[in-house]
Amino acid sequence: MTLRQIVHLPEPILRKKAKPVTKFDKDLQTLIDDMIETMREAPGVGLAAPQINLPMQLAVVEYAEGEDEELEEGAPEPKKKLYVLINPEIIKVSEEKVMGIEGCLSIPGLVGEVERYEAIQVKALNRHGAPVKIKVDGWMARIFQHEIDHLNGELFTDKAVRVWKPSEEQDEETPLD
Ligand code: ZN
Repeated sequence: MTLRQIVHLPEPILRKKAKPVTKFDKDLQTLIDDMIETMREAPGVGLAAPQINLPMQLAVVEYAEGEDEELEEGAPEPKKKLYVLINPEIIKVSEEKVMGIEGCLSIPGLVGEVERYEAIQVKALNRHGAPVKIKVDGWMARIFQHEIDHLNGELFTDKAVRVWKPSEEQDEETPLD
């Protein structure tokens, strides 16, 4: 596997709508594995193809609900869940929205407070091209929305109610991808 280089603003690809994936061949499998490795190495909890300079509707997400909370001694480690999202589409959203602090591997040094749906349902293809429906809520739903935004050329800074450099304030930082 190979680590891919993550591009930063103002790289124009970050502002373009990505194209649907149509070929589920060996090269795609290699790319997906590279993206998973690149996300883990960064480290981040999500990575979208435009962030490695590819205009494809493909994102990987890996997160364990509760992994940012302090664990009691002896408590089992939260289990990480890995998702590969290809040509994803949000088909249902919750009425409830929640605020949270996000960062982005493509916008180093900035975080922002962003309102997201608390829960969503997504229709997508898995890495082999089979259709899947996924329901997520909480922080996982936030990561999904952040990644799907990337596939539409949107960044968290477009939606943030405020953006700041974490070093300037004592706010808690929650880097996303
Ligand atoms: Zn991002």
